[in-house]
Amino acid sequence: MKLRVLGCHGPFPAAGGATSGYLLEHQQSLLLLDCGAGVLGKLLSLCPPEALSGVLLSHLHYDHASDLLVMQYYLQLHKARLTVYVPPEDQSPLRALLSAPEMDVRPYPEELHIGGLTAATLPVNHPVPCRALRLTDGEKTLVYTGDTNLCPVLASFAQGADALLADAAFLEAEWTAQKPHLSAAKAAQLAQEAQAKRLYLTHLPVGHAPETLEKEARAIFPQAQAVYPGMEISL
Ligand SMILES: [Zn+2]
Repeated sequence: MKLRVLGCHGPFPAAGGATSGYLLEHQQSLLLLDCGAGVLGKLLSLCPPEALSGVLLSHLHYDHASDLLVMQYYLQLHKARLTVYVPPEDQSPLRALLSAPEMDVRPYPEELHIGGLTAATLPVNHPVPCRALRLTDGEKTLVYTGDTNLCPVLASFAQGADALLADAAFLEAEWTAQKPHLSAAKAAQLAQEAQAKRLYLTHLPVGHAPETLEKEARAIFPQAQAVYPGMEISL
């Protein structure tokens, strides 16, 4: 498995960048995890959207899903069809706008088999319905938290992950239990509890040096690294 970071900032992109979007390659299959602002252009530099086995959305906040709006024009012009999985509980107005017949929007089933991978989801702690994703080929496992603050069951869901891609939107001094995201240190505690092999910090705030977030995370979980656009993670 190989994960490429297309965009990693939130809630808006850095100059010339993109918000959440990750391309997961497994054997001959390609899956897109989230499709935020600026992601379609980054994706097109790597592969055509019709090459995707599907899009797995953590949730429908705009920084995770807004480029699906213009993706519809691409699909129409290329006579292509794309399946997009969303949290079943979602009631975002964005979902109603994803109405092109070329876009097949479906709720996550209990267990999803796609692109040679098995995907399980877990509702996490965010102001709108959001799912963490656990993707495995039976040997290697990637867990993506989506957007979340503290979520007691997340550590068992992420147990033993080879790579944990975790929301780390705040420095510890900025974090409170009422906010919608984890801090880098809280993400590190999660990685420690889950006994993950590696931690990748994402949903990075524009304006903070990633090194500062890394420093706070590494004090708790040394195998922590902030992601960056274009980064490739091999599992
Ligand atoms: Zn969100």
